[in-house]
Amino acid sequence: MIPISLFSGKQIALFGLGHSGLITAHALISGGADVIAFDDNYTVVEKASKLGIPIGNLRDIHWQDVSALVLTPGVPLTHPHPHWSVEYAGRAGVEVIGDIELFYRQMLAEKSTVPVVAITGTNGKSTTTALIAHILSVRGWDVQMGGNIGRAVLDLAPPSLGSIDQVYIIECSSYQIDLAPSLRPNVGVLLNLSTDHIDRHGTIENYVAVKEQLVKKSDIAIISIDSDSCRKIANAIALSSKSLLTIGEHKDAHYNYESPYIWDQKGRRIADLSNIGSLRGKHNMQNAAAAIAVCQSLGVSKVEIQIAMISFSGLSHRLEQVRLLDGVLFVNDSKATNADAAAAALSSFENVFWIAGGMIKDIGISATLLRSLSHVEKAYLIGKDAKLFSVQLGDKVPYEISNTLKEAVNHAAWDARQLGKSPVVLLSPAAASFDQFSNFEERGESFKNAVKALDPLDDLR
Ligand code: ADP
Repeated sequence: MIPISLFSGKQIALFGLGHSGLITAHALISGGADVIAFDDNYTVVEKASKLGIPIGNLRDIHWQDVSALVLTPGVPLTHPHPHWSVEYAGRAGVEVIGDIELFYRQMLAEKSTVPVVAITGTNGKSTTTALIAHILSVRGWDVQMGGNIGRAVLDLAPPSLGSIDQVYIIECSSYQIDLAPSLRPNVGVLLNLSTDHIDRHGTIENYVAVKEQLVKKSDIAIISIDSDSCRKIANAIALSSKSLLTIGEHKDAHYNYESPYIWDQKGRRIADLSNIGSLRGKHNMQNAAAAIAVCQSLGVSKVEIQIAMISFSGLSHRLEQVRLLDGVLFVNDSKATNADAAAAALSSFENVFWIAGGMIKDIGISATLLRSLSHVEKAYLIGKDAKLFSVQLGDKVPYEISNTLKEAVNHAAWDARQLGKSPVVLLSPAAASFDQFSNFEERGESFKNAVKALDPLDDLR
């Protein structure tokens, strides 16, 4: 844990007592802050209280005595409307910040020289973060990986003074960047931008502006230039005195790629992804190019990077190969909760029996996703918005509406076995999971269980 001593003797209001909220409370308390914590969910309040965290209804405190409101990133700061705790803080002129802001201010206060690498984008953040962490770990660095990727940033080890091989690799969601105004990473990565989380940022412009902050403030900015919105940001940074490394399909990018190779601007081959199953698909060329740019800027050689990438096993629920049964490959991509992520997954395979649906986010099936439908043999639509998906699909691909994920798996498996040309049953929902599952992990596990329960054809004869 990283104790936060910046607010020693000061009163801090903390809202949100989920996983990262509890750790933040402990980090502040162990640094000497006077914390009053609260949540709208009584069960988590009770749990926090049992863990020794002081609880108080933030509606009843003297806000003029409060130095900061620490807000958990899942709680709305601005849209669709500010949470009530944010309104109380606003009325009293109290700043509202998140755990990554605390982490970074503490680094500054301790004059830490440990590099901070921050990764953002609409899709691919976790894969890129984990790949960077993997490459640096193989090289023997003391890698501290956290943020949006699961481990709360304040749960990481504190900076060790004088350490030359420690590094923080932090995945940042747009919500976390919004709550971290001081964050100035040594290396910042922007992977891509597409419509997502508009409910929380009001407009696409606001969402882009938040993500842009991260790379604008980085010493070295690594930006994909495959999309117009990211290229615009890169062009603006190129005019400043910051270091900029671009990645993309265009040959003018510092790290450019054409599957399965990644090249530098001088046309020298930097990496070959042809036999790395965990980095399958064009979207992973983007993730790998970003990871390579980060690692090279930290001094890792291309040979070391190539060797390390070969042993990267990938992350669960992202194009995770679950089983090969009777010639059918079953792939769990439950993390694809938006249209562009699902488009990337569909484009990575041929002959796809595609399980999609759940709760539509923003647009449902985007233009990019429509273009990827040529890879689909048939779609199996699940969840609350199955009907809406079917309307968007129209007659572009055959589809059926399945009552449950299990039914979708059974029908897709049956149909795929009839095809006889390396078919793939792919769960890549292009939708949120909350209508039927508590999160994308539970949806992915449910898919895997349904796949594991399938009998080989020989047993059925
Ligand atoms: P994030 O952490 O940003 O949600 P992940 O690495 O967890 O990203 O990947 C989520 C999903 O997005 C994956 O399941 C895959 O389908 C898709 N994906 C991964 N990388 C990219 C990328 N660079 N561009 C588009 N889609 C991607």
